[in-house]
Amino acid sequence: MPVTIGQTIGTDNRYQIVRKLGWGHFSTVWLCEDLTEGQTYYAIKIVKSANSFKTVALDEIKLLRCVKDQEPAAVGYNKIVLYHDYFVASSLYGEHLCLTFELMGPSLLHLIVQSNYQGLEQEGVKNIIQQILLGLLYLHDKCKIIHTDIKPENILISVKEPYIRNMVAHVNRFNELGVQMPKSYVNAAGWNEPELFEQTCDEASTSNVIYPQRVDPRMTSCPNKAFVNDFSKSIKIKQDNRPVSPLFVDPSIQVKIADLGNSCWENHHFAEVIQTLQYRALEVIIESEYSFPADIWSVACLAFELSTGDFLFNPQASEHLSCSEDHLGLIWELLNGIPPYIAHSGRRSSEYFTSSGTLKRISPENMKIWKVEDVLVDKYQWKRVDAILLADFIESLIEPDQDLRATASLALTKKWLDTIDRH
Ligand code: ATP
Ligand code: MG
Ligand code: MG
Repeated sequence: MPVTIGQTIGTDNRYQIVRKLGWGHFSTVWLCEDLTEGQTYYAIKIVKSANSFKTVALDEIKLLRCVKDQEPAAVGYNKIVLYHDYFVASSLYGEHLCLTFELMGPSLLHLIVQSNYQGLEQEGVKNIIQQILLGLLYLHDKCKIIHTDIKPENILISVKEPYIRNMVAHVNRFNELGVQMPKSYVNAAGWNEPELFEQTCDEASTSNVIYPQRVDPRMTSCPNKAFVNDFSKSIKIKQDNRPVSPLFVDPSIQVKIADLGNSCWENHHFAEVIQTLQYRALEVIIESEYSFPADIWSVACLAFELSTGDFLFNPQASEHLSCSEDHLGLIWELLNGIPPYIAHSGRRSSEYFTSSGTLKRISPENMKIWKVEDVLVDKYQWKRVDAILLADFIESLIEPDQDLRATASLALTKKWLDTIDRH
């Protein structure tokens, strides 16, 4: 669907497009002003028109309705990005489902990039992880929904009025400068032009933002310059202009879980393999049964990544090993082995494990047992006392046996979170 800045969409032309916020496989997401309620802004996700995308979006709407209506007074309800409603927009490519959400700011990936992959201060990490666990507590216990795609890109930061005003002013500045507003397309085949608007944003910008040294291929949004500047100010700068670890995060930061586009019901799954590779749980890799604990595994990966700037597991395929084999090797090294009864519990177990439960294609001599605590101390030069607390938290969330793995409510009681400094 060709989307032009300034155009109106929705019943009675209710929403006016202000700027693009981000994009994904299924959609582009736009900042829109609600003209019926002056100065009220929403994020509208315009889904690509092909039937396959529409079908997935209809499932997402069912899940979102459940989240919205299940128990608004329950703990964690406000930790999921609030969904309002949907409408249908027609274009020359067909019909597009348009989902309206509360407007959020950039994702956690932006904080990781801003830290120059050095990670965030522990207070900030604990604060963020606690909020994600509260959101999962609501999704799991009240809605019986498995998110299946917990990762930095899908956790969005709440923003306040001035941020939104700044975002709108930035677009108005374009008009003053006479910069042509680009169109962006979401067509039936799924082709789009995501970077176009971003490039023009940079041309019109006068800010002196410190950009990270590498482009992160995961980045799919164009955050407000004011946000980037605010966070840049709190980064300590080294001589070569690169931020020094760790990135300070305002302790009042609020985050919410977004993108239920891949989510499923506890008793009705849509896919056998779920989750983004680096955040994928052991049971998913070996294709055993999965449920809520798979989300908890991803939270551990996220806690490590926010703390260090690096993936907890970053499996790679090579000449000798498939990606999953490498992944299992990495898990083995971090956990000091995988119990045979777990190793043998998946549909693909015999592909990867011998009958005694060792890995088929990685010999023990080629593995280096390296527990989380030691990784934090040896590789990231953490103090042992700090490493012990985070390692204990992570290990209880990547427990190979799902029945023994911490649930969201148990994880919330862990000592690492207990030490949050409440201002
Ligand atoms: P994916 O390929 O990740 O499944 P998708 O097409 O389902 O993508 P989302 O992940 O829901 O789309 O949204 C795409 C991007 O749009 C997000 O990564 C985020 O940057 C931005 N975005 C989504 N929802 C909001 C919101 N409520 N407020 C602000 N930005 C948002
Ligand atoms: Mg997404
Ligand atoms: Mg999605």
